[in-house]
Amino acid sequence: MRFVIGSATDVGRARAAKANEDSFLVVDEAGVYAVADGMGGHRAGEVASAAAVRAVEESFGGGAPLAEAVAVANAEVFAQARANPEMRGMGTTVTAVQVGQQSWHFAHVGDSRAYLFRDGQLTQVTEDHSLVEELVREGRLTPEEAAVHPQRSIITRALGVDEAVDVDTYDVDLYAGDRVLMCSDGLTSMLRDASISKILKAQADPQAAADKLVDAANDAGGEDNITVVVIDAVGEQGDDVSAKARAFAAGAHAQPPGAEATGEWDRVEGDDDLIESAAPRSRPRAVTVWQVARWVVPLVAIVAIAAAALGWYARNSYYVGFAGDRVALYQGVPDGLLWWDPTVETRTDLGADDLSANDHDQVVGGKEFSSRGAAERYLRSLRAKATTTTSSTSTSSTPPTSTTR
Ligand code: MN
Repeated sequence: MRFVIGSATDVGRARAAKANEDSFLVVDEAGVYAVADGMGGHRAGEVASAAAVRAVEESFGGGAPLAEAVAVANAEVFAQARANPEMRGMGTTVTAVQVGQQSWHFAHVGDSRAYLFRDGQLTQVTEDHSLVEELVREGRLTPEEAAVHPQRSIITRALGVDEAVDVDTYDVDLYAGDRVLMCSDGLTSMLRDASISKILKAQADPQAAADKLVDAANDAGGEDNITVVVIDAVGEQGDDVSAKARAFAAGAHAQPPGAEATGEWDRVEGDDDLIESAAPRSRPRAVTVWQVARWVVPLVAIVAIAAAALGWYARNSYYVGFAGDRVALYQGVPDGLLWWDPTVETRTDLGADDLSANDHDQVVGGKEFSSRGAAERYLRSLRAKATTTTSSTSTSSTPPTSTTR
């Protein structure tokens, strides 16, 4: 297997006067590639993404596994931010891949992405560490809403903002003919997956594909820096490693071409010893009062509505129970509800001896009604039974009696 690479980066249209804070890494000898999207004022974003890819290259070149190299890059960016007040708060995404003969090994933090393009199908490998992606997972946004959401660039995990970082890793079987795309959000915030797929399908040469993708993102507005790395896995003559050949050999283990992204990849858990994955998630790019209010205000509203509903229920419920040793009609719920205690509305002169055993049991527990009228009808039936039965030993078999008074 050999690998043919295309890469391109551009400052974008909207930032024409500003800097390109993206960096990328192409090291064919080591078989390692990466894209990084930096953040932070005073050009700190440029510094962060460049330092991260350099650290990944050095650490990986020194023999570290890819995920560990990304963790080392985190420590490096964090140390630089701490040492230089101008760089405080800087951070960067990193999406990296190591190519093997049988597998693609990905390591990922942030909202840059890796895609696999195989048999004409585009599948996103990495999961974004972004606010909108979390809202999609919680069912609060559709993917379509997330794609155009004004806060889609807020990330929930980044390199360099904390001493330790969780690094997601993905291992994907590699077949001749596979094409991997890694890109910063300047591409994916401008182009839908369908447009990206179309370009990848039309451009056989990886460099031409990289250039066309950047052009298309600029044509669509170019609102952010755009960086893409395209990697083609090309089978050598004599290699029996085409996707179809391996799928045939592997039988049921093979992935159908149209398989869903979910569950398709072997998601490899972070190596706790290396990455200290117990560390809390890094802070988002910017947390404003408004963002906090977005979560708190609906919560307060839900609690208020629930309390109002309970209050309404408590005030519109009635029951018949004992007030001392006499039967009474109460407004409210037996034992009360939150701060709404029941109140006695009508007292009767009926005592325990006037009730049948069955009625007595019900009244002791508080017999509930959804209207005052129903509760009063029940009271009238108790009174009627009391005047027509002569013995307190009567049972519930006493038929309902209608009386005129
Ligand atoms: Mn970006």
